[in-house]
Amino acid sequence: MAVPFRPTPRTRVKRIHERGRYDRETVYAILDAGVICHVGYVIDGHPYVTPTSYWRHGDLLYWHGSSASRMLRHLKQEVPACVEVTHFDGFVLARSGFHHSINYRSVMALGTARLVPDDEKLVALEDFVERLFPGRWGELRPPTRQEVKATTVLRMALEEVSAKVRTGPPKDDEEDYALPIWAGVLPVTTLVGAPQPDPRLEADTPLPSYLNRSAEPAS
Ligand SMILES: Cc1cc2nc3c(=O)[nH]c(=O)nc-3n(C[C@H](O)[C@H](O)[C@H](O)COP(=O)(O)OP(=O)(O)OC[C@H]3O[C@@H](n4cnc5c(N)ncnc54)[C@H](O)[C@@H]3O)c2cc1C
Repeated sequence: MAVPFRPTPRTRVKRIHERGRYDRETVYAILDAGVICHVGYVIDGHPYVTPTSYWRHGDLLYWHGSSASRMLRHLKQEVPACVEVTHFDGFVLARSGFHHSINYRSVMALGTARLVPDDEKLVALEDFVERLFPGRWGELRPPTRQEVKATTVLRMALEEVSAKVRTGPPKDDEEDYALPIWAGVLPVTTLVGAPQPDPRLEADTPLPSYLNRSAEPAS
């Protein structure tokens, strides 16, 4: 088993601490099931949280974007950052409003992002595409020098990390279980739908094998 993340005073889950997880298997499974993260950082004393896509390679979390992005220009100065990923798994309906809840899996990672050097950028971007659509990178028109220049890629070492997971039915007050009120879980799933061809697709362009799958849960 991989060495778990060591909880620090900043990442130890205090509120409902039994939902906290620090093992890499759980953290990586949550990260790898997602595509969108939220990146938090402070500019001139004010916090901003920017949603963006990400990918993981080993102990490194990557994200990218336009080199003109304020978020990326700020973070590449190696300032403190917080990256968060959430999967919403269900509504939890209890017998009292107070005990209603959400089933979820989430990860919070604290650290400092660093610029991926130019000579590693393409490999990182290939990783991003291949993770989602294995085999697609080799099919694409290669990026131009200008496109690579216009793209900034950052990565952050996964070192100070926590996960928090809620599963299962509501936890009601003991005396409320006798009440005739429906209680339970309403599962929520994100589905990947059927491919919708670009109206300008050249006739007879075959559907790539990595898209040839029926609708399936995204995470
Ligand atoms: C989809 C979703 C819905 C939620 N809805 C609510 C809600 O309605 N009300 C509510 O109070 N809380 C909700 N939570 C839980 C919320 O994320 C916090 O865990 C909770 O509010 C306690 O916050 P805190 O600052 O007191 O945590 P603390 O336990 O004090 O946080 C200490 C450290 O624990 C870790 N930590 C805390 N929360 C998380 C997390 N979610 N994921 C990973 N690491 C974490 C971080 O490292 C953090 O720095 C929800 C979570 C998710 C994912």
